[in-house]
Amino acid sequence: MRVRRHRPDDGRAPAAPAPGDASASPSRPVLAGRLGRNRPGLAGGLARLFAGKVDETTFEALEDLLVAADVGLASTGRILAALRDAVRTGAVAPTPEALVAGLRAEIVAGFAGEDRSLQRAAAPPSVWLLVGVNGVGKTTTVGKLAARESADGRRVVVAAGDTFRAAAGDQLASWAERCGATLVRGADGADPSSVVFDAVEHAAARGADLVLADSAGRLHTKTNLMDELRKVRRVADRPPGRVSEVLLVIDATTGQNGLAQAREFTNTVGVTGIVLTKLDGTAKGGIVLAIHDELGLPIKLVGIGEGPDDLVAFDPDDFAAALTGV
Ligand code: GDP
Repeated sequence: MRVRRHRPDDGRAPAAPAPGDASASPSRPVLAGRLGRNRPGLAGGLARLFAGKVDETTFEALEDLLVAADVGLASTGRILAALRDAVRTGAVAPTPEALVAGLRAEIVAGFAGEDRSLQRAAAPPSVWLLVGVNGVGKTTTVGKLAARESADGRRVVVAAGDTFRAAAGDQLASWAERCGATLVRGADGADPSSVVFDAVEHAAARGADLVLADSAGRLHTKTNLMDELRKVRRVADRPPGRVSEVLLVIDATTGQNGLAQAREFTNTVGVTGIVLTKLDGTAKGGIVLAIHDELGLPIKLVGIGEGPDDLVAFDPDDFAAALTGV
């Protein structure tokens, strides 16, 4: 086990402005124009669709558009039923503009009343464990979170728990170096639980606020990934550590496949929220709705690029506006 400190002092981040919350609502829309840049999406389809009058054909065409945008059958059904109802009762006028506005409102309503804030333990260190299959963006998200949490004045320890992929540790080393977080990593192929355990011990000994634990999406051994993750979680949850978030990272560009992965992870490791990455790489942002509706888990963060600032809190208004183009 090597403990690398990228600061000459004890790894404390510099004094910073009052800590903000990584999950606070953005003050300005960030998704508009970034959701699947330059690709025709739902917004383009809606613009064409609603050139005419609203009748049954409109609803059928809208259904096709939503399914094509990865919204999924169940969520599409829910949204269409609500829209038809709204038009029938007069809550939404049978005009193209009103219907698109109704669609947007319906999308936003689906996310109402849920807590999307990132949870912290009553006493530090909190542990946020990131899980998901290979290549979805776990390591990058850990790096981005380390950057923003450090910038908010928190002392962050990063646990390089993906010991299967040597490059993951190197990626994290450079993220940690840039933001002044402490990195704890093991030898390649080391037991991920022991890396996370050491990171928690290190964090507690140094009075750090947060441990960000990366994990493997695939293993060296034949050990079942889910068993391994359960063990990592158990170990990370032993005092002085407290797992306050298990964030499932899903790549938005994989569309409905992401759902199948999500089911397995949520059933076995007790996921507390979703991070949807690469939303900049798909016009089919509807996967957000499918995942949210099926899993009943809050979408806490959205990845819209590879840079340190390309991780934003999920904001339903911003998302609905970007998806529908209104
Ligand atoms: P891991 O195997 O789950 O740890 O995945 P990585 O963090 O290594 O990410 C895999 C690839 O996806 C890398 O090339 C990342 O730069 C890229 N990536 C991660 N998040 C995003 C995102 O939000 N947008 C884009 N465009 N690329 C991303």
